[in-house]
Amino acid sequence: MEQEITDILKQSQLSITDNRLKILKLFQNNDKALSHADIEKLSGKHFDRVTIYRTLQTFVDKGIIHTIPTADNSIMYALCKEACSEGHHHDDHVHFLCDKCGTTYCLDNVNIPAVNIPKGFSAHQTNVLVNGVCKNCK
Ligand SMILES: [Zn+2]
Ligand SMILES: [Zn+2]
Ligand SMILES: [Zn+2]
Repeated sequence: MEQEITDILKQSQLSITDNRLKILKLFQNNDKALSHADIEKLSGKHFDRVTIYRTLQTFVDKGIIHTIPTADNSIMYALCKEACSEGHHHDDHVHFLCDKCGTTYCLDNVNIPAVNIPKGFSAHQTNVLVNGVCKNCK
């Protein structure tokens, strides 16, 4: 596990720092998307807000984690499982928000269907967020 995390950092040509290791580990240990506040809570006052923000931004830039927009404008972050690289994300899967427990999941095997947009528009990203009740709350 620890080895895997250092490998991810090495592959992304990031220096291995304590903060990066700890934050990345939180994503690996949680099979769900995390918000900035979740990370603050889970890390147990280890980091200040700025450190978390910077680290998350670096991970997004490097294609390690992707962002999930939510209805209340807070951003969730989740580990990339596809072959994402610096500046190139390929996380075209559907996200699921549970109305009961508030957990956001990556549905890695559910692809976003092709969306036909009108001529003259060019899409950069398509997000699909489905809400309902998750399997743990059923
Ligand atoms: Zn990605
Ligand atoms: Zn749930
Ligand atoms: Zn995702």
